[in-house]
Amino acid sequence: MEMLVPPWLESLLSTAFFTICPRHREAPRSECNMFCLDCSSSDAFCFYCRSTQHRDHPVIQIRRSSYHDVVRVAEIQKVLDISGVQTYVINSARVLFLNERPQPKSSTSKGGVSHLCEICGRSLLDPFRFCSLGCKVSSSLLIFLIRFLPTLSKLSRIVIEN
Ligand SMILES: [Zn+2]
Ligand SMILES: [Zn+2]
Ligand SMILES: [Zn+2]
Repeated sequence: MEMLVPPWLESLLSTAFFTICPRHREAPRSECNMFCLDCSSSDAFCFYCRSTQHRDHPVIQIRRSSYHDVVRVAEIQKVLDISGVQTYVINSARVLFLNERPQPKSSTSKGGVSHLCEICGRSLLDPFRFCSLGCKVSSSLLIFLIRFLPTLSKLSRIVIEN
């Protein structure tokens, strides 16, 4: 299988970030903007939780760009194949979006759009395939289903017949 979806990825994409840490409510850096690849079943956590509970774990930091979660390319590309995903330079760092963003329908009219996200149809700046990690994951799940569904239904038929 060419595109492996690591077990923590779906958890990363569905985690709510930038809540206030219940354990460090009074501290200045209590926003939960960290995600641990080793403990991916746990929620997002803050700067202080990281240094106590995830000291030697691979942790990535989530950032915000106009209310959307982004992650730095330098951090995520060490642990994930991000080929095909549109990247942006925001505050002089190259980032990518975790999930697709709703967009106004009218924004595609200007001057003929050449590149569109294969999943959500968002217009892209460059010849990338996806607007976000989420859309890339959807695509690889789709490919997985198309490829393995015939085998799976054959298997289930065998199980039922026996
Ligand atoms: Zn905390
Ligand atoms: Zn951890
Ligand atoms: Zn998309």
